[in-house]
Amino acid sequence: MVRKKPASSTHTEHPIPVACPTCETLERRYDNTIGQSRELLECRFQSLREKVRELHRWQENRDEAIEDFYAHKRMHRIQIVKARRARKIA
Ligand SMILES: [Zn+2]
Repeated sequence: MVRKKPASSTHTEHPIPVACPTCETLERRYDNTIGQSRELLECRFQSLREKVRELHRWQENRDEAIEDFYAHKRMHRIQIVKARRARKIA
């Protein structure tokens, strides 16, 4: 009879905490807006005006993505500072 190895043996522990999922999502969103803008530059549009309009739209999306990302990062810092203070008190 052959015993199967437990599946958990392949599990590796990460000493560094896994990146925040919200950060990942926001970063992906930002990368996506960059990618879309680049693709637009390669695309052929019926008129230059249309192309410029689309580019502006994606630039706005990118700016929004950056703003959201920074706002979220700021929140992280506040949380870290709070956690440190709490530890000092305790
Ligand atoms: Zn985060």
